[in-house]
Amino acid sequence: MRNPRYDILFEPVRIGPVTAPNRFYAVPHASGMTNTMPRMRAAFRGTKAEGGWGVVCTGYVSIHPSADDSPLPYATLWDDNDIRSHALMTEAVHAHGALAGIELWHGGGSVSNKTTRLPPLSPSGLSWMATHVGFMGNQRSKAMDRTDINNLLRWQAEAARKAKRAGFDIVYVYAGMGYLPYEFLLPEWNLRTDEYGGSVQNRVRLVRELLEVTKDAVGDTCAVALRISLEELRARASDNAASEAHEVVALLADVPDLWDVKMDSSPTDCAPSRFTPEGSHEPVIDFVKRVTRKPVVGVGRFTSPDAMASQIKRGVLDLIGAARPSIADPFLPRKIDSGRESDIRECIGCNICISSWHDGVPVRCTQNPTIGEEWRRDWHPERYARSEKAANVLIVGGGPAGLECALTLARRGCKVSLAEAQAEFGGRLRFETSLPGLKTWGRVLDWRLGQLAKFDQVSLFPGNRLSVDDILGLEHQRIVIATGARWTRMLYSPLELPVTAPMANVFTPDDVAAGAHIEGPIVVFDYDNYYMGGVLAEHVARGGAQVSYVTPAGHASAWTIMTNEQPQVHRALARAGIPLHTLSLVKAFESPELVLANLFTGAEQRLACRSLIVVGARLPHSELYDALLSRQSEWADAGIDAVDRIGDAQSPGAIAHAVYSGHRYARDFDQDARAPLYKRDSPIVESEPRVYAEAAVGREAAAR
Ligand code: ADP
Ligand code: SF4
Repeated sequence: MRNPRYDILFEPVRIGPVTAPNRFYAVPHASGMTNTMPRMRAAFRGTKAEGGWGVVCTGYVSIHPSADDSPLPYATLWDDNDIRSHALMTEAVHAHGALAGIELWHGGGSVSNKTTRLPPLSPSGLSWMATHVGFMGNQRSKAMDRTDINNLLRWQAEAARKAKRAGFDIVYVYAGMGYLPYEFLLPEWNLRTDEYGGSVQNRVRLVRELLEVTKDAVGDTCAVALRISLEELRARASDNAASEAHEVVALLADVPDLWDVKMDSSPTDCAPSRFTPEGSHEPVIDFVKRVTRKPVVGVGRFTSPDAMASQIKRGVLDLIGAARPSIADPFLPRKIDSGRESDIRECIGCNICISSWHDGVPVRCTQNPTIGEEWRRDWHPERYARSEKAANVLIVGGGPAGLECALTLARRGCKVSLAEAQAEFGGRLRFETSLPGLKTWGRVLDWRLGQLAKFDQVSLFPGNRLSVDDILGLEHQRIVIATGARWTRMLYSPLELPVTAPMANVFTPDDVAAGAHIEGPIVVFDYDNYYMGGVLAEHVARGGAQVSYVTPAGHASAWTIMTNEQPQVHRALARAGIPLHTLSLVKAFESPELVLANLFTGAEQRLACRSLIVVGARLPHSELYDALLSRQSEWADAGIDAVDRIGDAQSPGAIAHAVYSGHRYARDFDQDARAPLYKRDSPIVESEPRVYAEAAVGREAAAR
């Protein structure tokens, strides 16, 4: 039974000519699934609709080949095949009574058109020149002339008509995050002296015209939404309003049918929980509802129904937007609707999902291993086929892999015993959630323990370190080893490989976790490159020691560029007074001095150091597994059919990898060994693929 406090979340909301059945709105977000994966994409979004999201949107969809974000995974709506490709999604979403939205997109001077090789377009010939190599390009943009502007308006209208044919109910104009219409809004990008530049009225003109042509094209049956970034604009003073953001929203107030409001850059828009709390957009977007009569949707990594209801009641939002919470739990709305709030698998704000987009692959999630696998592996987040081989399984190790495996096996009807050496479950999470900013990651453990408690056939044995003899003395058909991994003391060679170099006073994160006494000054040497090096440096610095951070990479916690954390990692280290030494290898260490060598030049530098903490290679705890294999001849008498490894005990990775590994084992353990790994998706090709309007681009006006 639904809690009446949350009734407000289930009210329908009129959006132009269409009506959302409730206030749960799965906003446009990158899924990594391009038009080459239309069935995966459709099932992924259809599952959100099935889970109760009243509106489900696409990610960014290019309206024209001059908006080519390759190698990042963007969708296209360029030809008839693309229409069919997207129609699979609208059908999947409509099948559950939800509305389908499409975020039409032009990347302007923020893309390099690496595949189409057309000149990028921008208001004044300026291009985004990123500091990170992953986003760098050498192709600068062309300043748009009047013909280019007319073309853009035509492309938007044509794409909107295609979107309508594909069955979409809400069609977007996207003026955010450095993309083309946004570039017209900001005076740094827009140096024009014609009617599209200068005053705020002029800078807003293109967005208004895009909205108008979209309305003319499809506004009779589809709602027209404006997605806009307001952070930079809100920071700018205005002569006519409280800020330029207020002025822009006032000028366009009732032109779109829906305002979808957000921040300007990925690290603030999709901010990690390590540095930013839930609801962080509110101070920037809170004014919009006071300026427009049209409904407003916004995000904030909302997972609590109370926080959602509060947003509505306080007049901040009309629709609760979600990207990450809808990935972590596609059934979040249904769970609230049926009074099962405690079953919500809350997003932990780790941003592994956004790293998938940066990697150019289908979306992955730490909390939800089924995301992106709905079609190709037939993994439904809430439905589990009963195992034909109702096995009796012993899982050794209660970290993320063991916990996820236990839960999924239980859902499949297996009898499960889960043994954990320590008094508390959680594995690596026990220590890592105590590190600065990582408390929210504890949801990985809490949710699984909460769910496991519902199953009578699950027995939990904390405080039980099992030996081979213990395991052979128990009666289980399947043994799953989930004993995790350990950090090594290996250093790093100029060939970029871990190397063993015996030295005294060298520690690992495991030593820190175990409470080892580590004397300062401390150097953290990080070639793992994810969060651990940076967060551990912060952690030991809080203990009062003098700490330096050294890495062979070009940035601190270099891989965290993928999870939107890197700017904040640098700021956090600076705040903690931790000096950085990048492009550096450890050449020699004899307390109290550490010798560094530059990765490229070999130039040496000396640092005061009594303790070196190496955050580098991890190796599996495979002793138990190896010992069991060495006694395979005894398995039959012990009733054991098979012994397998999962998670870090198999191949060390991020928590997301461990969860996925545990889940996959439990889904597949009873499959024929030669069963297909998964279905392979392919593009829809019903008519000869052709890109229209190509010839018109890049010619000078005089030639047309
Ligand atoms: P993963 O990320 O793969 O789940 P973790 O390192 O987080 O790996 O968790 C592994 C867990 O296994 C740890 O909590 C550890 O205490 C436990 N463990 C290791 N060896 C044994 C053992 N012999 N018996 C029971 N538990 C064990
Ligand atoms: Fe949330 Fe992390 Fe899953 Fe993304 S990957 S939805 S941030 S739990």
